[in-house]
Amino acid sequence: MESFSINGRTKIVGIIGWPVEHTLSPVMQNEAFKALRMNWRYLPFPTKPADLPDAIEGVRALGIRGVNLTIPHKEAAVPLLDELSPAAEAIGAVNTVVVEPDGRLFGENTDALGFGEDLAAHGVRVSGARALVLGAGGAARAVVYVLASGGAEVCVLNRSVDRAEALAREMSEKVGAAICAGGLDEIPAKAGWADMVVNTTPVGMWPAVDSSPWPEDVRFGKGQVVYDVIYRPQETMLMAHARRCGATAIGGIGMLVRQGAAAFKLWTGKEPPLAAMEAAVRLSWNNR
Ligand code: NAP
Repeated sequence: MESFSINGRTKIVGIIGWPVEHTLSPVMQNEAFKALRMNWRYLPFPTKPADLPDAIEGVRALGIRGVNLTIPHKEAAVPLLDELSPAAEAIGAVNTVVVEPDGRLFGENTDALGFGEDLAAHGVRVSGARALVLGAGGAARAVVYVLASGGAEVCVLNRSVDRAEALAREMSEKVGAAICAGGLDEIPAKAGWADMVVNTTPVGMWPAVDSSPWPEDVRFGKGQVVYDVIYRPQETMLMAHARRCGATAIGGIGMLVRQGAAAFKLWTGKEPPLAAMEAAVRLSWNNR
């Protein structure tokens, strides 16, 4: 396959993280390039926190087309970029950098784009919905931004109540909508209020698959949507509970693939091959 051989015209993108060994992004993005017969490659760039400014300058200097950023660089990269999208600005974190033709560095948060696009793909209405978000970490920031800026009424419940309150306060100011906050002990009281519940905690994630952030004795209603951002396992205990109650359950693989697809589109300008990207992720799980 001539177009897929590395040569002088090969375009490079990649991921900057520390550690970076476990990321699924190289498999997903390289499969996308292969599916579209594009002479591009996606590489891992293990980068210590202290080296991030040099690495970002290196991206610009080496003619790299863009990078993803992962733990622990998503917030630290913000002041190193020339321009941010409204989502990245409000969330305070960047997971995708695009090197513009003039060398300017543009930062986007495609976790937010991926979540929003996956909700839309599942036909979930955001505007006017009442949404309960469990957790107040990095994923919660993207989720709360998408929901609140999309016109949902949002309530954040977190193990550490002060963190939920800080997130609600900050995002309320940025988005201009009231957001309530509380502890996870408020789940029984708030369960019936919500049209949608989004779990952004890692509770239930592989290998601790026998755990759930949701009390077993609190039932879901048939019209409710339960979205778990965890993507491994594909069906968490929370999702299984929701399905047993007749609610709609959605897992995090769509968000994962769509955040990668959004980055692919920003770098290449091409429509991402979603099915090939998702298949690559599933195959790489099976092979681990
Ligand atoms: P994070 O920044 O560390 O935040 C974790 C949040 O979960 C915090 O609010 C924390 O509460 C809470 N939490 C942690 N352990 C808990 C426990 N045992 N009981 C109750 N609450 C607990 O993590 P993150 O980056 O947001 O990631 C969270 C999850 O989202 C991970 O499973 C990650 O894989 C997933 N994720 C998925 C996607 C996707 O594309 N599908 C994207 C990003 C993240 P405290 O504030 O009290 O510590």
